[in-house]
Amino acid sequence: MTMLSSQVGIIGAGPSGLAVSFFLKDKSDIVESQLHVGGHASSFQECGFTFDYGPHILFSRDQQILDFIIASLGENVSKCRRNNKISYKDRLIKYPFENDLTSLPLEDNYACIRDFIFNPCKQEFSIPKNMREWFLKTFGEGICTRYLFPYNEKVWNIPVEQLSMALAERIPNPPPEDILKSSLGYSTEGYLHQLYYFYPKKGGYQAICEAWKKSATIIYQFNVAKIQRTNSGNIKLIDTKGNSRIYNRLISTMPIHEIVNKLDMEVPGEIQSAISQLIVNPMFVVSFGIRGVDHNQYTAVYFPESEFWVNRISYPCTFSSENGPKEHWSLQAEITCSKGSDVWCKTDAEILMHTKKGLQQRNLLPPDNEIILERVDRQERSYVVYDVGYEKNAEKVRAWFTSIGIHLLGRFSYFEYINVDMAVDRALKLAIELNGDVGDMLELKSLYLERALARLKLPNICSVE
Ligand SMILES: Cc1cc2nc3c(=O)[nH]c(=O)nc-3n(C[C@H](O)[C@H](O)[C@H](O)COP(=O)(O)OP(=O)(O)OC[C@H]3O[C@@H](n4cnc5c(N)ncnc54)[C@H](O)[C@@H]3O)c2cc1C
Repeated sequence: MTMLSSQVGIIGAGPSGLAVSFFLKDKSDIVESQLHVGGHASSFQECGFTFDYGPHILFSRDQQILDFIIASLGENVSKCRRNNKISYKDRLIKYPFENDLTSLPLEDNYACIRDFIFNPCKQEFSIPKNMREWFLKTFGEGICTRYLFPYNEKVWNIPVEQLSMALAERIPNPPPEDILKSSLGYSTEGYLHQLYYFYPKKGGYQAICEAWKKSATIIYQFNVAKIQRTNSGNIKLIDTKGNSRIYNRLISTMPIHEIVNKLDMEVPGEIQSAISQLIVNPMFVVSFGIRGVDHNQYTAVYFPESEFWVNRISYPCTFSSENGPKEHWSLQAEITCSKGSDVWCKTDAEILMHTKKGLQQRNLLPPDNEIILERVDRQERSYVVYDVGYEKNAEKVRAWFTSIGIHLLGRFSYFEYINVDMAVDRALKLAIELNGDVGDMLELKSLYLERALARLKLPNICSVE
């Protein structure tokens, strides 16, 4: 008889893997290739500064899940008010763009509000087929050509007409009165679900997963190299060192482009082709530790201009003052690009130089003698791109994996552009399905979140191998 390592095997101790482990009724364990939890939501410390691998903040439209994540942090959480800016021509305007038209040069303000009010695209694209049409229909040409098109093309690295409508649900549709008010100079706020955000006081964003790992059994440095189906119908995981573990069921949060190469079975050509068409963009993350006082206290600044590779900078010491030593502050720049692009082929030194010069020219970074830490990290995966073929390809791939008994979960596995809040949501829904619970979803959700919280508050109920 085969000895099971556990009923359920989970690949990856990032937010999704940890979350599903505390919702499942069956005994599960997590195999993780690294020596720490957190995955893409983890953090590093250097010279007294704490940075995430690309800045993370906590906000959600789902109040229950937000409350759950905050509660799981106990006392280790701070609340901040968003202070985001957009770089436009010679100035910084308030974010979101459509809520601060009055700060634009007068001719730009006029063009934006004119095209918003007298918008022929409302009729023309009443049933939009892609994000270009949706943006035009919703905001008019003035706002689109000045900000939404260049910024989105910079982040996603594909033309806006190739972006799928799946993205539209993430972009709030502001009340028309707010846009009119913003043009006239009345102060308004958009994207209210992000107006306040949360962040761990200590330990960076990784502190969330550190709090969650308490209830999990984690096998660290188990880098899955092969996945086999055994004669008895179980699933065997073999790592790069030849260690193996056997499970009845498997949940995977490892990237879809990787798991497909670990399967010890034939993968149909159409599935391989669908996976190869799923786009994930890499990113450079450039971190600076700076001596002195940050008088601006911005949360983030966005750059739509195409000649500057940086798409956004963030201020980790604004998220939490514990992210840097006293009388110091920090800044982190993100550069998204596509794999194989000219930018991705640049050396770290070139990336650092371009970022530093561009920020210093814009007076957003002080001279070199005040910078005490500079570092470039390459992230192979940052953004899941919703191109027009995305939904069809993703659905095909997910269905095939389910048919072979592997449940895909998480940002780069189920392949969804989700944050940690929605990682919890998806984990919870998968656990409800695998646990076989039926009933009112809202009631089940409350029950699961309550139970998970109770479980997380128990100190180390399972041992870490
Ligand atoms: C630049 C950037 C900014 C973001 N900003 C925010 C934000 O502001 N707020 C927010 O909430 N979220 C943010 N996110 C999203 C957040 O990081 C993800 O939602 C979250 O990390 C997804 O968790 P996951 O568990 O699905 O995947 P991952 O975090 O990718 O975890 C997968 C895990 O699987 C492990 N693994 C992979 N391969 C193997 C293998 N072969 N064997 C064993 N283990 C393996 C990895 O080591 C990793 O630990 C951001 C993401 C990025 C990239």
